[in-house]
Amino acid sequence: MNKTRKGDVLLSKFRINMLPTNKLLHRFNIVSSSNCEFCIHDEETISHILLHCSRYRDPRLQLLKEIQDLNTDYSDTSLQSLLNLDKNAKIKLRAFEKFFLSCNRF
Ligand SMILES: [Zn+2]
Repeated sequence: MNKTRKGDVLLSKFRINMLPTNKLLHRFNIVSSSNCEFCIHDEETISHILLHCSRYRDPRLQLLKEIQDLNTDYSDTSLQSLLNLDKNAKIKLRAFEKFFLSCNRF
């Protein structure tokens, strides 16, 4: 799968909350634990990957920079705010796509 196609697939799964995190995979008995393999004690959810996991610190900083460059509210980095698709929706979605590709998790 080429990078553009892979990015589109990741973005689609992200938008319908179906990225294959350990939480989701565990729900379908595909993996034995829902926890993050890197953090061990934290459940691996999309918000864990986007906001908390230290493994993805660098891609997260890049994502936040790209979103903040859109002149949105700099102080609000909540998941709700990050996912708010406003007039900059296309740019934000491309930033998320880049984030997930950079993570090399999926
Ligand atoms: Zn983690």
